[in-house]
Amino acid sequence: MAGAPYHYNPSRAYVRAVEEYASMMRSEPRAYYDYFYWQGPVSVDRLLAHPSGRLSKAAAGSGLLATPCVAASRTRRGSISARAVSRMEPCKSPVAMRSVRVTFLGSGDAFGSGGRFQACLCLDGGTEPLLLDCGATGVIAMKQGGIDPASIGWVALSHLHGDHFAGLPWLILDGQFAKRNKALVVAGPVGARERVEQAFEALYPGATTAQRAFDSSFIEFADGMPCQLGPALITPFRVRHQSGAPSYALRVEYGGKVIGYSGDTEWTDSLIDVANGADLFVCECNFFDKKVPGHLDYQTLVGKRAELGCERIVITHMSEEMLAHLDNSDLEAAADGDVVTL
Ligand SMILES: [Zn+2]
Repeated sequence: MAGAPYHYNPSRAYVRAVEEYASMMRSEPRAYYDYFYWQGPVSVDRLLAHPSGRLSKAAAGSGLLATPCVAASRTRRGSISARAVSRMEPCKSPVAMRSVRVTFLGSGDAFGSGGRFQACLCLDGGTEPLLLDCGATGVIAMKQGGIDPASIGWVALSHLHGDHFAGLPWLILDGQFAKRNKALVVAGPVGARERVEQAFEALYPGATTAQRAFDSSFIEFADGMPCQLGPALITPFRVRHQSGAPSYALRVEYGGKVIGYSGDTEWTDSLIDVANGADLFVCECNFFDKKVPGHLDYQTLVGKRAELGCERIVITHMSEEMLAHLDNSDLEAAADGDVVTL
């Protein structure tokens, strides 16, 4: 068994990780499905039979396609290492021929620097649109950009700071008044549901128990474990940013493309894994040369650029200090409303 993976990638850590995951797939059908759906985007009505014959029927009705990371967290001991995950290239499928659009609904920091909106990226061009983060200004930005908030069924949160998740109460409330009936599924760090509900209750007492025509549910990420969130397979990588819960950079396989997203973090080698082989890496660049714990600065990022094996890098989450240096920047910088087509 070890020969073939070693030939593919001559690293003992890689081979060990593949063997561990193969063993997990043999004993846990859900892991088998995780791997399959991660390797190639497929239609959700096409289900794969596990070699043991187990679960193929159950998977259809279990919501598995939306929630495999719940199972992943239960099989943590046999998990593939985060670094090995990023070295496995996603296969290119016919879906890859379609273009994916990444819209920067918010490219600013928490404080509206430069008059910009807070963190929010919209991916579309896959089977359904998906948001990466939803800062407090998310719904305003969507409406300004002509995106119907009720069309968003999937949201992935990098971490639990308000400028990355506080738009969710308004996304839910807007749906309630817009007679939305599309379910909303949010994936984020452990504790995401509680944090969103606390914010919602503080803003609109009683809102969390109101009756709505659509369901809202939460999935918790587990470090390094691929998680199927509707149209995307998302692998979270732990980063360095204090938020009262694990903070993650997200490697998102969507519509046959790979989008890396740093979330908020100071430099950590996790970013190498997240960006490796990505068609686009969206990276925070809060400061120009100011060193602030938990955030990146332009000088550090430029110094690390050669280690980031991505096709294209676009910086976001910029402070006034960084924005003042954009003319001297060699890195492509996002502005609100920018669209990157992959
Ligand atoms: Zn943050």
